[in-house]
Amino acid sequence: MTAFDLIIIGAGPGGYETALLAAEHGKKVLLVNGDRLGGTCLNEGCIPTKCMVRDAEVVNLCRNSDEFGVKEVNYLVDFNKVVERKAQVVNQLRDGIAAMLAKAKVTVVGGMATFKTDTVVTVGEEEFTAPHIIIATGSSSKALPIPGADQPWCLDSTGVLNLDYVPASLVIVGGGVIGLEFASVFNAFGSEVTVIEFMKNIAPTFDSDISKRLKQSLSKRGVKIITGAAVKRMEQTEDYQILTTYELKGKEESVTSTDLLMAVGRKPNVDGLNLEAAGVEYSPKGIVVDDNMRTNVPHIYAIGDVNARMMLAHVASYQGRRALNAIDGVSDSIRFDVVPSALFTDPECAMAGLTEEQCKAAGIDIKIGKSFFRANGKALAAGEPDGLCKLIFDAQTEALIGAHIMGAQAALLAQQCCDMITARRTRKEIVETIFGHPTLSEVLLTAAQSV
Ligand code: FAD
Ligand code: NAD
Repeated sequence: MTAFDLIIIGAGPGGYETALLAAEHGKKVLLVNGDRLGGTCLNEGCIPTKCMVRDAEVVNLCRNSDEFGVKEVNYLVDFNKVVERKAQVVNQLRDGIAAMLAKAKVTVVGGMATFKTDTVVTVGEEEFTAPHIIIATGSSSKALPIPGADQPWCLDSTGVLNLDYVPASLVIVGGGVIGLEFASVFNAFGSEVTVIEFMKNIAPTFDSDISKRLKQSLSKRGVKIITGAAVKRMEQTEDYQILTTYELKGKEESVTSTDLLMAVGRKPNVDGLNLEAAGVEYSPKGIVVDDNMRTNVPHIYAIGDVNARMMLAHVASYQGRRALNAIDGVSDSIRFDVVPSALFTDPECAMAGLTEEQCKAAGIDIKIGKSFFRANGKALAAGEPDGLCKLIFDAQTEALIGAHIMGAQAALLAQQCCDMITARRTRKEIVETIFGHPTLSEVLLTAAQSV
């Protein structure tokens, strides 16, 4: 049995970033990984999807080039090249992770880890021990328990990322982040896209002003969006089409497509870990942790998607940093209540802090400021007039507590807001900060001025 200071199970953004940090802190680290380095985020999540988002932007730019005075642009989408570029970016980043781990002298073992006891982990025939263990095994796609969901043509996000053709028509079950990013991408590539969402708004975790506006924008681009509809079954017709039946306002309706994506959420990867042997408490909703990411077994931690607190890559990494600090007995000021989150559709949406709905539910008295991209010089110059910025301030203190943006570079703007919320900037301080002109950031200034 080989002994380490720390064992980390899973090499996604939670696991590998934490392993690098722990090694930097002088720990002897073992990183066990069942699949490719980089986890879901690098291999079948954030990065390959964002490659396709960029490809889609280029297609849209070619399509709308005459708006910029560039006439008669002939373009043809070579989807093989799209697939190839995506693979090249992912491989390059994966090689980078392998090199960083080697340089930091992290021991990497390939294989599925299983707990033997609360301090011993087995990988195949080998046994490893450490006084502290971090579980970072991520999550997998969920499927609805309905007829057709187990068929090979019912694809999850990985299945869609592996397509080597552009679907003629694509039905997407679930209008959350994954569903909408793919809807936006394949709409640009020319697929006829239909999104079926169960809730009354798409992107239900976003502020409702943003989700309603995004629905309008995507609909204008030709994405058919059906909300408040429950998908009942999917079946293949004699001519190999997929017939999806849903219930809308008590009536059954259906839609036909060549391809289908189911994106109705993700479930934590707890199977196969033998958590019982370590005595770690978990449920199908994930491993239960406290604010230091500590499980009920004090020397075992769970970070990232596997604790299902917030399934985002950067949250996984920062939870790892928090867990490491807890192991070392160090306190930190990481604010898990101010996490930037983005939806890389075209137009982009992003947020930081509280939504108006969350403020209402918490009984917080608020003031709201809004601005529109159509009144921003840089947005108009860039041909990006579609967008809204909504800032939420605490009515008593006037501190910024929420920012919700749809429009060009929304993710970057939300990051700027994240900084302002963390620094507890007030409306007056924001208005008295000099914003460069012309910049998209001025939508923040205009929104703050409008309160
Ligand atoms: P993962 O990245 O899932 O990594 C877990 C690793 O553990 C995997 O390599 C797995 O093989 C391994 N593993 C599992 N079980 C074992 C075991 N028993 N032994 C050893 N190894 C094991 N988030 C964002 O922030 N921004 C985005 O733009 C974004 N886009 C996304 C797009 C898609 C299509 C998807 C599916 C997700 C996206 N996400 C995005 C979410 C993001 O991918 C996850 O939040 C993130 O990967 C979670 O990191 P993690 O380290 O917890 O787990
Ligand atoms: P999600 O929870 O964001 O969305 C799932 C959607 O499916 C919800 O809107 C839900 O109401 C809907 N749904 C559930 N049952 C349904 C039914 N019967 N019929 C129709 N719709 C139904 O989950 P996701 O889109 O699968 O994404 C999973 C996770 O991946 C998210 O938690 C997210 O954090 C992460 N992710 C993040 C990004 C990003 O940061 N840009 C991108 C992709 C994924």
